[in-house]
Order: sequence, then structure tokens, then C-alpha cells
Amino acid sequence: MEGEGKGLAIGIDLGTTYSCVGVWLAQHERVEIITNDQGNRTTPSYVAFTDKQRLIGEAAKNQAAMNPINSVFDAKRLIGRKFDDVSVQNDIELWPFKVVAGPCNKPMIIVEYKGEEKQFAAEEISSMVLTKMRDIAKDYLGSDIKNAVITVPAYFNDSQRQSTKDAGFIAGLNVLSIISEPTAAAIAYGLEKDNGNTFGKNVLIFDLGGGTFDISLVTITGSKLEVKATAGDTHLGGEDFDSRMVSHFVREFKRKHKKDISGNPKAIRRLRTACERVKRTLSSMVQTTIEVDCLYEGIDFCSTVTRARFEELNMDLFRKCLELVDNCLQDAKMEKRSIHDVVLVGGSTRIPKVQRLLEDFFHGKEVCKSINPDEAVAYGAAIQAAKLSGIGNKKVKDLVILDVTPLSLGIDTQGGVMSVVIPRNTAIPTKKEETYYTVDDSGAADIDVYQGERTKSADNRLLGNFTVTSNPPVPKEYPLTVCFQLDCNGILTVSAALKSMQRNQITISNIQDNLRKEEIEKMLEDAEKYKLEDNEYKRKAQARNALEDYAYYMRNTVNDKEIRSKLSAVDKKGIEYAIEQMDLWLENNELAEADEFLHEKEELERICNAITAKIQLR
Ligand code: AMP
Repeated sequence: MEGEGKGLAIGIDLGTTYSCVGVWLAQHERVEIITNDQGNRTTPSYVAFTDKQRLIGEAAKNQAAMNPINSVFDAKRLIGRKFDDVSVQNDIELWPFKVVAGPCNKPMIIVEYKGEEKQFAAEEISSMVLTKMRDIAKDYLGSDIKNAVITVPAYFNDSQRQSTKDAGFIAGLNVLSIISEPTAAAIAYGLEKDNGNTFGKNVLIFDLGGGTFDISLVTITGSKLEVKATAGDTHLGGEDFDSRMVSHFVREFKRKHKKDISGNPKAIRRLRTACERVKRTLSSMVQTTIEVDCLYEGIDFCSTVTRARFEELNMDLFRKCLELVDNCLQDAKMEKRSIHDVVLVGGSTRIPKVQRLLEDFFHGKEVCKSINPDEAVAYGAAIQAAKLSGIGNKKVKDLVILDVTPLSLGIDTQGGVMSVVIPRNTAIPTKKEETYYTVDDSGAADIDVYQGERTKSADNRLLGNFTVTSNPPVPKEYPLTVCFQLDCNGILTVSAALKSMQRNQITISNIQDNLRKEEIEKMLEDAEKYKLEDNEYKRKAQARNALEDYAYYMRNTVNDKEIRSKLSAVDKKGIEYAIEQMDLWLENNELAEADEFLHEKEELERICNAITAKIQLR
């Protein structure tokens, strides 16, 4: 694979629980989903901190039960949100790691790393996961990769999209584009099914993953994919189904053993891992057992759980998924019978009840399971990456993707009412202008930009604000032009202009967040620092390994029959003594630096070579 990475761009599905990376291989004209160092095609979105090192992916998840408070997951549920967001507060209750309110009400994750307390923003944790995904691609392709397309849930708002883009930047990636997950899945579906049947086909992408739920209604006409409407919930997925089961077993434990385990992060972490396993098993079996040894105060926990009970615990969440499907159809002004195919994406669509409810909803229509639910999003992102970097084949180059904005955008007007400038499900990129009127004669107008569907501005999400001024001041009811520009990533720029009495004097302001810039620069610096530390740790581990490897080799050498016959007893003792000394040194110097290990190896080699050289001389 040497050299394939040059000019390549990867597609990354940055998931709540698992992430996946794909690349378009030009010479094979196909997408390759890349396996990680453990041979798996998806990698846990976990980052862990220990007293010695930082771990990302499989290694981080594997040690989570032993180190729950410093093992961070679910960063996607925090990204772009405020600390006092209800969903953030609810999640904090269930997470074993600590989250506090940082500057500007930003949630900050607290961990202990190398004996010191550290704070990380969700963007930083996500950037670490992205770095891991890039490294997986780099190892496979044999060269570094800069360009990437990253996916986000269709229902992510402006701030969640912007923060994801920032995460890519902090990871040192050049983010070619941010695309919606169901749109990426639709690309994968469109390309796989491109056998002439796709003309004017209405496809409903049902994407239920670990943390988020998205639906997109896409019309595929030849190589044109047009998103008609999108709906979803950025806080609904497999993690919630796991949480319901965790709460169920916490109650059962209390009933059986009169003990409350909910305040014990280690016990909850182990129970959660067991619950996820049980949930997966219940997708293929109707009953299974959960067993956790020494769950709490030495008590082993064992219970039986049926698929029916699991479904009952989650039925309201499953029904919510269908309500959102209904909303999406209404927004697209489409009947159920106009849908040609219902495509399942995301690990949680393996749940039989979800599939059955969906089939019932579509009057018995069989759901389409032909695309891989875990990989379709990364697959589509890889195609988009190839298209944007101009390396795809004709089929890829011909693709036209028209996406929409999931939520309405507007400004606050008199009476605290939101005036919509760009309605939800408008095709992007787009630019819209509206004229408003000043409410007094101060010569200044405040522009508060909101995103959401509620009438009252305060019930929606405030994205940012700025003031437009004019000199000399304009009278009350003076026209003010507000311009909203949404780029193809779904990221918004707002500007406003007041034409002052004096002609040609126009004041324009943009939402500008200098604080964000400074913050990101700091995160970039930190990312570089952690990367250097990781590299140093790796170098140290390699140096130690090389030393132990050499000692092992020499121990075998002196015990080799043929060599032993050539060595004098004194020489043999000399080598054995040097190895023993080195073992002792290792025991007392666990935390030595890479150079010290290298130096020790050189010393040992020097002694051993001096002795073995005599054999050759004889
Ligand atoms: P994704 O974000 O698409 O990778 O989906 C991950 C979610 O799918 C996690 O919550 C998994 O627990 C869940 N999942 C994976 N396989 C199954 C299965 N066989 N049955 C139920 N849920 C599953």
C-alpha cells in the first residue's frame, strides 16, 4: 500500500460509541473500510488517561472498567452543547467521569492524567478520536493523510457542526466538508444500487446509532441525490437503551440485596458493559442471562432477561423514532406509500422490535438491510472525500448531492418572537436576505441569531449576537437588512447592514467569536503536546521492549548447547550477571526515559559482545 496515501482523502464516521474510517482506492475503484490495529472495522470512540499515558480507541475501552473516572466516551453528546443543557445534566448523572461548567457555560471533562488534574472540552476528546482514525488510515495506506470528510448527525445544529469542524482542525485535519450521516449512507446506498433502478426513487434512511437518531428522505434520480426533508433527535440511540437496562438492574439489585449501587462508578461501568452485551444478544435470542462477578461489595449479580422485557423498557423510545419518521414524511409532503425503500443504518437498527415497528408503520413493507449498518456512513463519506479531492471515477465525479438544513434559522424580533429567515429543510448552500426595522432612534440594532422551531426565541437555541451601529444615528423604523448565508456544511454566517442617512455609509457586522479562536489555538497547542507525549511514550515502550528482547535473546544464547560448549564458565557467568543486573535495574527504573533504556541496552550489548567476540576468535 506504500504511497497510496498521497493526495488521498478519507471519510470518517465520528460516532458516539464507535467510529469508522474509509478511503476510496482509485486503482481498485472502490471504497475500503480500514481495519484498526486489532483487526476491527469500527473503533470505540473512547479516550482514557492513566498515570503513564493517554489511550485512544480499543485500548481505552478495554481498561475502562478498571479506570472508569478517567475513561471518557460519549463526547459527541457534549459537543457544541452548554453545560446547563437538560440533556447534558441528565447524561452527567450516568457518566462515571466528571463534567464541570467551564468558561461561557461550556462543559469541561475532568480527568487525572499523569497524576495531574486536566480539563478537556468535548472538541478535544473528539479530536483525539479523529487523530486515531487518521492514524489507522495512515498505517494502512503507508503515508500521512491531511484531507477528510467528517460526518455529523443530520439533526446537529450550527454549534454542534462548527464544534465538530473545530475538532477536525485540532486533529490537524483539513476538513473538506462536514456531511450529514444519513446523506452519507444515501450515497453508499445510491452507489451500491446504481443498476438503473434508482430513477426517481424515494428512499427513507433510518439511522439509529449509539447516541443519535436521524431520518432523511432522499430522492435518488440517476446520480442526483436530493434530500427532501430530515428529522431526528441528537440524543436518542443505543446508549439510551443500555441506560434503561442499567436502571432496571440497579432497581433489581436494590430489591434483591437492599443495596444501592447507583453511586459507584466502577459498578455502574461494569453493569453498563454487561447490559450492552445483553442487548446485542437479545437481537438474536429471545432470552439471555446477565452475570457480573463481584458487582458491588463482593456480591455476584446474576439475572435472566427476556427480549420482551427489553422491548417494554424501551417502547416509548422506539415509538418516538416512529413519530419522527411521521414528521419527516409530513415535512417532505410525502405519503408512506410513496417511499420505495426504507434503508436501515446504525448498529441499533439490528433490534428486531425496531425493524418490526418500522415495517408495520409502512404497512408491512420489508425494510432494506442490504447495506452494512455500521459502515455505510463512513463508506459514503469516503466517496464524498474522493469526489471533493477529484480522485473518484466517473460515477463518483457525476454524483450530485443536495442536502438541506435540519432546523429553522432566524432572529429575535419585538416581543421575543423568532422571525425565521431560513426555514428548516431548505436546500443548502443558501443565502437569504430579510429587511427589518429599527425599534428606536439610538442608531444601534441588536441582532440575536436563533436556531429552532419554537415561536418564542428564548425556547430556541441562541447561536450568537452582535450589534449594528450607524453614524449619524438613524431614526426609529429605519430599514435594516439582515443576510443569512449557509454553506454546504450547514454552517451559518450572518451579516447585517443599516444604510445610514448619509449615503454610502454602511456598517456591516458578522458573528465573530474571537474567544473561540483563542480557545482553539490553545487546544491546537495542547493537541501537539499530547501527540509528542504519546510519541515519547511509544518510543519508551519500544526501547524497553528492545532491551528486554535483547536480554531474552542473550539468556537463550548462553543456554544454547553449542554456544555453551564454547563459552568458559566465567564468561557464561559474566553474561548471566550482566543480565541479572539489567533485570534489577528494570525493576527499580519502571519510569525511566527512552534514552535510558537505549543506554542500558548499549551497555548490555557492549558486555555481551566483548564476551561472545572471544568465541569467534577461538
Ligand atoms: P453505531 O453508532 O451505528 O456504531 O451504533 C452503535 C450502537 O449499536 C451501540 O449502541 C451498539 O450497542 C448498538 N448495536 C450494535 N449491534 C447491535 C445489535 N446486534 N443489537 C442491538 N444493538 C446493537
